[in-house]
Amino acid sequence: MQVATFKYLGHEQVGVVTDHRARIIPLNQLLGSDAPATMMELIERWEDLEPRVRTRQTTSDTGLLLTDVQLVAPLPHPKRNIICLGKNYRDHVKEAAALGGQASGVPTAPVYFSKMVDYVRGSTEAIPAHADVTRMLDYEAELAVIIGKEGHDIDPGSVSEHIFGYSVLNDVTARDLQQRHEQWFKGKSLDGGCAMGPVVVTADEITYPPVLNIECRVNGELRQKASTSQLIFDVTEIISDFSKGLTLKPGDVISTGTPAGVGMGFHPPKWLKSGDIVECSIEGIGTLINRVK
Ligand code: MG
Repeated sequence: MQVATFKYLGHEQVGVVTDHRARIIPLNQLLGSDAPATMMELIERWEDLEPRVRTRQTTSDTGLLLTDVQLVAPLPHPKRNIICLGKNYRDHVKEAAALGGQASGVPTAPVYFSKMVDYVRGSTEAIPAHADVTRMLDYEAELAVIIGKEGHDIDPGSVSEHIFGYSVLNDVTARDLQQRHEQWFKGKSLDGGCAMGPVVVTADEITYPPVLNIECRVNGELRQKASTSQLIFDVTEIISDFSKGLTLKPGDVISTGTPAGVGMGFHPPKWLKSGDIVECSIEGIGTLINRVK
């Protein structure tokens, strides 16, 4: 199933995307007054609601044309910081070393950091250039995993049971801030520096572990092209390791890292500028499109 958060007549709600992405059925058409108002609530109540949503969406001929609504990020206001992986594709580790001041070796344990978000941008929403605070704005196309079921010390064999679904995330990064402060937090957390979408594909629709082609284009130029099979630490390792002594909760988002081809990897670097169109795509999930403003 594909689910999305959207605005229609000024009202933000959640729906099931159907009909080869031509239509979206608002949850309140499927569940009436019992419908969750947000994606977070849908995730928290998924075990209970899934059978009804699944049955009714296949019999429903209602819904809205996707072209008549505005998709926003699936989780526009995550409850907690986005959990991110750094240096999780070998070729990206090499190009990251070019920035200087960072250890260039392939990590022997997952490299975690977090990204504070105010409002996650959805597909078609703008990413601020922040030209007054950064001159090195960069893109990072990543597979995002959305946790469905709470857990800690999650056994590798049980990881898939804790996943609600997958989306595409652009881990927008101010490289100069990342470098200057010797810690990634600020450079990763500028307002509007996180985009996600266009939808969440529920875990049952993607064979586990996910092996999906991932790409990023800027103004039509192919910059990143890889497969999630190239992750140094895969989804099973990430979730089982990160959850040791730490509770993952429904709605937590884990962004699994970016492959080679980010702007800083080019000579000279190709930083984002106002007016650029960034398209991050993952096979089976879709394309997240954002203009830099
Ligand atoms: Mg990243």
